[in-house]
Amino acid sequence: MGVTQHGRTQRLDLADPTVREWPCTVLEVDPERGIVLDRSAFYPGGGGQPPDHGVLLWQGVQTRVAGTRKGDDLYLIPVEGDPLPPVGAQVTGAVEDARRTLLMRTHSGLHVLCGVVFRDFGALVTGGNMEPGEARMDFNLPQVPADFKARLEELVNTEVAADRSVAVRVLPRTEALAIPDIIRTQANLIPPAEQEIRIVDIVGLDVQADGGTHVGSTAQIGKVRVVKVESKGRANRRVRVRLAD
Ligand SMILES: [Zn+2]
Repeated sequence: MGVTQHGRTQRLDLADPTVREWPCTVLEVDPERGIVLDRSAFYPGGGGQPPDHGVLLWQGVQTRVAGTRKGDDLYLIPVEGDPLPPVGAQVTGAVEDARRTLLMRTHSGLHVLCGVVFRDFGALVTGGNMEPGEARMDFNLPQVPADFKARLEELVNTEVAADRSVAVRVLPRTEALAIPDIIRTQANLIPPAEQEIRIVDIVGLDVQADGGTHVGSTAQIGKVRVVKVESKGRANRRVRVRLAD
């Protein structure tokens, strides 16, 4: 597999998260499983980031892509009833820009949140989820400090405004796991068979093993609102955030 290859599909989204349109070839069309491309920038979902939406364009025809299915290959799920391209067709793939860009900002915002909570409050992540523009993240934080919500919002936005660069690199497994605190979730979610690990580094703040899409620097996230802090169990705190614009 490798980190930029899924079955027969080259993962353009991981190599360059700014790709929104690209030429590609249809390798398989299966009414049950979906469509396989040789090259795809559709983020297939994972790590809390939902799959992309978009289209395939071919000979004046449009196939809408509603999601993806991860198996031995990366299957794109067409909208039911849409025409399907034939195997071998040269098509243009296009990812819905507004949704993906918002997801990249939201996802990157969660990294900043997670980095700040670990650095300043010493808490690990126990879970999380995101939708375009809003997200929640759970932390193991038995004691909630005074003014936690307001302080957290201020600390997060200070790091956003610092415009820290977001660097992505791929390291051999042993080298990656030697980085202190690289696994920020309480459970180590990296499959044992994975020989290469993708690292996302918000330089000076947060380094994590991660397979998602992110902005190039933190100012692109925009202002983050901490909407709510809830208690979910004795030590579990759920932080809800929303991007301001
Ligand atoms: Zn990430």
